[in-house]
Amino acid sequence: MESGKIKIIGVIQCDFARERCSGFGCVNSFTERIDAFARYKDDEKIMLVPFNCGGCPGRRISRVASNLIKRAKKKAEVEKDEIVIHLASCIVTDNGHYPPCPHIDYIEKILKRKGLKVKRGSYKSRTATRRREEGLYESFDWDE
Ligand code: SF4
Repeated sequence: MESGKIKIIGVIQCDFARERCSGFGCVNSFTERIDAFARYKDDEKIMLVPFNCGGCPGRRISRVASNLIKRAKKKAEVEKDEIVIHLASCIVTDNGHYPPCPHIDYIEKILKRKGLKVKRGSYKSRTATRRREEGLYESFDWDE
């Protein structure tokens, strides 16, 4: 992906995880351009748009993605090929909330059908990383 072309990053978070998560970790990782956002370290002008999936099986994703595409074009003159959606770590990794979402492929298909780029991962928790190294959690490819 040409990171210089990206103007908006949408981060989708799991509704269940958000019941106990403020979303700080993802926003902080984006602001600091670390973890899954390190690939954008030279791009200062990216806008972050975090939103929840709406509950299983990603109930509001199609509608919110359409809204995002429309508003980005109308309000910021950003085309959909300049938007990338990150599925947050609470969705794609084995983590302190629970194992990965069982609907990842379905969610990804919805987004790709709308012409959006999709990446997996956001904030990298130190505890989950240690547990991954200890073999307690499934491994995860952050460079995917
Ligand atoms: S669809 Fe996945 S990400 Fe959304 S609430 Fe269900 S488990 Fe969480």
